[in-house]
Amino acid sequence: MRRKIVAGNWKMNKSLSQGLQLVDEILSASTSTEVLKIIAPPFTHLTAIAEILKSKADFAVAAQDCHHLPSGAYTGEVTAEMVASTGAKYVIIGHSERRLYAGETNDILIQKLNRALAANLIPIFCIGESIEERNAKTHLEAIRAQIKEALFHLSPNDFGKIIIAYEPVWAIGTGVTATSYQAQGVHDFIRTEINKKYGKEISENISILYGGSCNAQNAKELFACADIDGGLIGGASLKSSDFTAITNSF
Ligand code: PEP
Repeated sequence: MRRKIVAGNWKMNKSLSQGLQLVDEILSASTSTEVLKIIAPPFTHLTAIAEILKSKADFAVAAQDCHHLPSGAYTGEVTAEMVASTGAKYVIIGHSERRLYAGETNDILIQKLNRALAANLIPIFCIGESIEERNAKTHLEAIRAQIKEALFHLSPNDFGKIIIAYEPVWAIGTGVTATSYQAQGVHDFIRTEINKKYGKEISENISILYGGSCNAQNAKELFACADIDGGLIGGASLKSSDFTAITNSF
């Protein structure tokens, strides 16, 4: 059975004390243990937040990125093993902001995935089409290419461990959410492509999250879709009441 998951990507927000306060508020407000809540704070907060959440089976911590190499003279960078050493169990890979601002290519993303899996981290791998691809109705081809080029080198065993986040780039941080019809259409497409490559069991069991201006108002309709297993949440994860409302939207 695939798991219901809500992951909060804090991006470059919150000081350590603000982050600890937010975690405290989320813990106090959380009622359901059925949904896995993943907190993805900045690197500097990972150890402290992982320590607080380590005894909670329905909470986990993710890094927002990791480097594609195992060590070396790369000032400012953090390896997958370093992330794992903080107590984080997940890592976001391939977020569109990193593809755009850090120029991350499929080749780099493949190496990051491999490093993360080797460090026993579970990758949350982001894919999604641009507005141009959506308008040209080539979005499904774009999604197919992203999955094929960055993920389909994985063995069935490794593929079975990952989480996919479908995040249409035009919906991230814009306030424009994909309709549940649009999102479900792409999630169904992704699952079908996975089925063709890895078979029914793996395609049925993989969690596919939706991300892109998902909030307390629209989460219920999105999460009611057959192939949407939860959300990767940016802006709305920074307020405990919004994040908690989203986790209660299944
Ligand atoms: C994201 O950055 O992963 C994201 C989904 O952001 P937002 O919810 O703010 O659109």
